[in-house]
Amino acid sequence: MKEYLEKLPKDLQEILHLIGKLAAEMDMPAYLVGGFVRDLILGVDNFDLDIVIEGDGIAFAEKLGEKFNAKITRHRRFGTATLALAHKLKIDGSPLLTIDLESIRKIDIATARKEIYPHPASLPEVTPGCLEDDAFRRDFTINAMAISISGKNYGKLVDIFNGKADLAHKKIRVLHDLSFVDDPTRILRAIRFEQRFNFRIEPHTLKLLQKSCREKALNSVEPQRLRDELVLVLKEYDPVRQVNRVRKLSGFTFMHPRLTLSDKQLELLKGISREISWFERQYAHRRQLESWLVYLIGMLDVLKLAQVRDFCRRFAFPSGVKKRILSFKDLSPRIIKNLCGKNIKPSQIFQALEPLSYEVLIALKAKYRNICLQKNIQVFFKEFNGLRPHTKGEDLRKLGIEPGPHYKKIFDSLLKARLNGKVKTKEEEIALITKLTKKGS
Ligand code: ATP
Repeated sequence: MKEYLEKLPKDLQEILHLIGKLAAEMDMPAYLVGGFVRDLILGVDNFDLDIVIEGDGIAFAEKLGEKFNAKITRHRRFGTATLALAHKLKIDGSPLLTIDLESIRKIDIATARKEIYPHPASLPEVTPGCLEDDAFRRDFTINAMAISISGKNYGKLVDIFNGKADLAHKKIRVLHDLSFVDDPTRILRAIRFEQRFNFRIEPHTLKLLQKSCREKALNSVEPQRLRDELVLVLKEYDPVRQVNRVRKLSGFTFMHPRLTLSDKQLELLKGISREISWFERQYAHRRQLESWLVYLIGMLDVLKLAQVRDFCRRFAFPSGVKKRILSFKDLSPRIIKNLCGKNIKPSQIFQALEPLSYEVLIALKAKYRNICLQKNIQVFFKEFNGLRPHTKGEDLRKLGIEPGPHYKKIFDSLLKARLNGKVKTKEEEIALITKLTKKGS
């Protein structure tokens, strides 16, 4: 595999050599593992360095952290650590050596380990092990390869389960028959990799997967682990395709017993995909859209408000996410009706849409195909979103208006006048304030 490693960016190659050198010094063999190896062979960029150490992974990470002056986070229970790297890596002990990092920011380091699942879907019991044990705990053959980076074996592929051949034949294959029983989240992972790479889940693995789906194995997984896997599915390049495959293989009762996805709902997701592209063409510079959340909002559309609340509680979504999901569900029919009307005033559009997040606005635009609503949302994005009066508090003070709660009223009036085209410039705003305060309003 040396020739593959030599194609990596130079900074990354230097880091690998330094890791390998330290591993040899500490007599703890080091390997690149997981998705990094898979993507290296596929020729896909992947800068999530995943290293396994035969020995004490945390002690190794600590030494490497000192050498790289990196911030280290330890997870003792699993014998793993993460190093966060600075932009400019100053190598300790070699005052002349600095590496400008362009491609990589963090390194995950793990002790090679053996995992035993005491019960189906439980968290595994972890004990230190060798590289073979570590490969055996992995999900699929294509993710179970390792490349040695220490000593004279630098660049040697360790491929116990023939992952390289499965990569070449585009196959997703589990390592043993109890794989989905031990960890049913692998059902979602199998679908995710299959759809991402346009591979096929090979027939025996598919049978095992379908059996686990029939037994509703996903329902017994801890909700937060399920949530994380679900979010990864929705963050993939083509979430509609992913969701459609999940629909065919497992369905969505693991999310909520009432959650189904009809063809109509799937159309909504396709609409969401189009609207996300629209947003990204026009407004990507404003802020990054959390597109996975828009898809999730679309999927939950069939549920009632109370059911969506249950879903959010059970899966413990962070409050900001929960708020956005519920605000879509909670939109009053009156607001939708107004937005579908021709005669709605700009200030009313602003009032209805400004409090909503971009994720909710995109879901709204995808769901209601009414022409007026489409135009109103477009004009909101183009002209009204984020609009504030030219006048500031300082200007009001200069006009001799004592600060107080009435400031908000003045700003609201100014904004309304501005949106409805009654004032344009700061001078016109000031004239309006003078008029308003004279009236004593
Ligand atoms: P991605 O490209 O999506 O990041 P990845 O393969 O790097 O894919 P991670 O979730 O970062 O995926 O996991 C890293 C590695 O850890 C995987 O390649 C796999 O070997 C192993 N792994 C992760 N989750 C599981 C699991 N549920 N069961 C077994 N092995 C797993």
